[in-house]
Amino acid sequence: MKLLTCVGIAARSAEHIDVLRRLTRVLGNADLVKQLCQTNNAADIVEALTGTRPPSPTSSLTDYEHTVQVVIRNSTGLHARPATTFVETARRFQASIRVRYGKNVADGKSLLSLLQLGITTGATITISAQGTDAQEALMTLTELVETGIGEEASAETPVNHRNIAYRDWEPQHVATTIHGIAAAEGLAIGPIRHYRRTPMVMVITDQPGDRLSETAALEQAISAARNELEHLASEVSRRLGSSRAAIFRAHTELLTDPTLIRETVSRIFDGHSAAWAWQQTITTRVAQLEKLDDPVLAGRAVDLSDVGQRVLRHLLGLGEMPFISLTEPAILITDDLTPSDTATLDPDKVLGLCTALGGPISHTAIIARSLGLPAVVAAGSAVLDVADGTPAILDGFSGRLYLRPSATDVETAHALRSGLEQEQAIAFATRHQPAITRDGVYIEVAANVNRVADAVRAIETGADGVGLMRTEFLFLERDNAPDEEEQYQAYRAMVETMAGRPLIIRTLDIGGDKEAPYLNIRREDNSFLGIRGLRLCLRRPDLFEPQLRAIYRAAMHGPLKLMFPMVATLEEVQQAKAIAERIRTELTAPPIEIGIMVEVPSVAMMADVLATEVDFFSIGTNDLTQYVLAMDRLHPELARQADSLHPAVLRMIARTVEGAASAGRWVGVCGGIASDPLGAAILVGLGVRELSVSIPSVAAIKAHLRGLSTIELRDLAQRALACRNAAEVRAL
Ligand code: PEP
Ligand code: MG
Repeated sequence: MKLLTCVGIAARSAEHIDVLRRLTRVLGNADLVKQLCQTNNAADIVEALTGTRPPSPTSSLTDYEHTVQVVIRNSTGLHARPATTFVETARRFQASIRVRYGKNVADGKSLLSLLQLGITTGATITISAQGTDAQEALMTLTELVETGIGEEASAETPVNHRNIAYRDWEPQHVATTIHGIAAAEGLAIGPIRHYRRTPMVMVITDQPGDRLSETAALEQAISAARNELEHLASEVSRRLGSSRAAIFRAHTELLTDPTLIRETVSRIFDGHSAAWAWQQTITTRVAQLEKLDDPVLAGRAVDLSDVGQRVLRHLLGLGEMPFISLTEPAILITDDLTPSDTATLDPDKVLGLCTALGGPISHTAIIARSLGLPAVVAAGSAVLDVADGTPAILDGFSGRLYLRPSATDVETAHALRSGLEQEQAIAFATRHQPAITRDGVYIEVAANVNRVADAVRAIETGADGVGLMRTEFLFLERDNAPDEEEQYQAYRAMVETMAGRPLIIRTLDIGGDKEAPYLNIRREDNSFLGIRGLRLCLRRPDLFEPQLRAIYRAAMHGPLKLMFPMVATLEEVQQAKAIAERIRTELTAPPIEIGIMVEVPSVAMMADVLATEVDFFSIGTNDLTQYVLAMDRLHPELARQADSLHPAVLRMIARTVEGAASAGRWVGVCGGIASDPLGAAILVGLGVRELSVSIPSVAAIKAHLRGLSTIELRDLAQRALACRNAAEVRAL
């Protein structure tokens, strides 16, 4: 469909071709310009324009100063020998290391400077690190101090904050509590500061001039936005490190997307103004991306809308987008944040984020997590009325903002926070160790990934394997389905990256709210209950068979397991398995384990029967929860109630584990609740032996499980099953 539109546009006139060329030149894509200038043939231009894709915007936000507070445990304090060990360890890292004790600061790589601090046993010191390997340096040094720097720990080791239940903490005396949704874990303590975003710019009336001057205006606005982004990138890079500027480079890339320009120019040639045409193009694209239930693509939609605003402001003569600046550290309150806003946040000044709108997978939440900032979203409009300067505690565990807490509560919150920092440091330092419970049961902690880059990150973060590769990522955001060869290359790369570690590849789970326009899936009134997942694949051999062939071909390069999503009946499984087996025989590929997702209540209830057909089950608690509770997982008003720890969902999981055990099959969980420490504990107590979690949760979940025993977890799980609602389970 898109191609036809392109041909239409390109064939319109020589004048149009010239415009496209000029704009393409502005985009700065040298290859594309070369191709376009060599030909006047409309079809060639279409091919050149449509064949180009911008790289996806990613930002790794790690190059700022990391700090951690630790307590000196060895009996003699930081005297010569342990101080030497500390300095030698610090010197293994490139990062600059500083140690603060009281008001004095020492270079962590200088023995003399460190000894001059006179650190005694029981002292709390702050270690800071800055540089590419800062995080790792900090983790290693923390572990070194925690384990007594090669000496026996003092009998009088001060309070171990790790025992304090910061997750369940509630202050005793506060003036007001505002409830939102927990989006990024952690506690922030400080005054409130409001950040009022400039309202979104909108073009209400279309006032077109002549086509060429409108096109020239578009060209100028895009150039101005590019200059602005380049300036921002160098400014943010200077202030906050180059990785923080990545978002602006990604936005510049978005501006080089020829399809955006092509669609806008087409609208201008249909008789619209540049501003109106640009707004229409961006709004349509953003709406398409937002419809996809994928946090990465949702993030991309926000990026696009942000870039759209930047260009629109120039088209309307409104100048550059504003910048967030805070003079003192504070908890930032706002209605919602754009990627540009979040990229300019200074972690030294922003203690935490609280937004009136947004959801747990909003861009603000994702960025807050990657910056390690506690965040609460969807706190409602009341939060916008809190006076600037009001002292507060933001609790990213419970999703609450406490206003005017008592001095004792503030003190406790500080203690809890430093305990949490120590816990995170230890989890990270031990991330590559297996999660073996205190009574010796190994729990595989794998990660959910979309592509090879995620798998690499998952392994670095300590994941034992990949428990869910969502293959729909390969199918979304493009104009046609990837062919067998392209898929084979992707799955093979994944197998090779995993290098023998467990890998589960899930076949296409599209339909429902995830749609790819080129698949021409009929719109359904109740799409979550319609043709999605395996149901769609069984109806579309043109999609299913090339994917299965690609997976079996990849299986010749290393171990992988195959998994079918959204199964509801025995017949579906038998049919899918028969197709898979036919393809395997055709390819003379090795047999591989075949499992199914447990996302539909019928499958949980019939688990004993289905267990005789498959090798394993992986419970998708996100969908299972929505189908058990009949609450749309994306519904803005129901999201909070659709809690996967509801006893009804837990009973379904218990039933699944029992059914699986009757045929000697194992059960994993790859839904969101596996990434929650309480959820993970209950799941293990219910008999789940593989957890596939979000990449940032891997280290913490492993560390958490290592401290527990399955005997006590079985008891916890039994108590959870007997609860009357999710709140009772969470209170356990
Ligand atoms: C689930 O439903 O829990 C799941 C893991 O699948 P997805 O989130 O991709 O639907
Ligand atoms: Mg699902």
